[in-house]
Amino acid sequence: MSEKSALVLFSGGQDSTVCLAWALERYPRVETVGFNYGQRHAVELAKRSVVREALAAVYPEWGARLGEDHVLDLATLGQISDTALTRNAAFEMTAAGLPNTFVPGRNLLFFTYAAALAYRRGIRTLVGGMCETDYSGYPDCRNDTLESLARSLSLGMDTPFAIETPLMRIDKAGTWAMADALGGAPLIKLIVEHTHTCYTSDRTGGHPWGYGCGQCPACRLRAKGWEKWQAART
Ligand code: ZN
Repeated sequence: MSEKSALVLFSGGQDSTVCLAWALERYPRVETVGFNYGQRHAVELAKRSVVREALAAVYPEWGARLGEDHVLDLATLGQISDTALTRNAAFEMTAAGLPNTFVPGRNLLFFTYAAALAYRRGIRTLVGGMCETDYSGYPDCRNDTLESLARSLSLGMDTPFAIETPLMRIDKAGTWAMADALGGAPLIKLIVEHTHTCYTSDRTGGHPWGYGCGQCPACRLRAKGWEKWQAART
């Protein structure tokens, strides 16, 4: 069972949606997990079920593989962070050179909870959309960090866990290209229409790359990746 199923850390954003498609292409059974930690906006989390249902409807083979969805409440993470993601603060860089959207060690906590859940579900592969290329200095997105964590989880639960990060070495243009390779134009359309990566809850003003304020770091990165991908195709 361990090699036939995967648990995808799925936020409802672009990156984790591409990871979910990637996993559905590879594993006979795929479950998803999301974390509620007092995000400033609930739009991204609300999009999770919409994206799951759209993927299952557009791609029946993937729909047959798509298993349960789990949402874990990590409200304590909101209590110990004071950042733009959880408070109405401006997007700024901190003295350490990290964006103040940084929630220290967030991915370590996410994967640890995911592994505990996966253990109970008989799943040994965890999939996340972390990316070293665009990682903005987030040290918990680094490949070294996650390889080390996979070893710790395997030791600590006496079970061989693998952490798969299909986006680790590619940029945002590469993420659009991967989506295109996995699901073609219908998957691009689904990502544009349904996923939310903007740091604000802005869903007005459709851009070619989707919805969002167009100004925050996440929107700028997404737009830049779209433009680069479009330029590479022509
Ligand atoms: Zn935005």
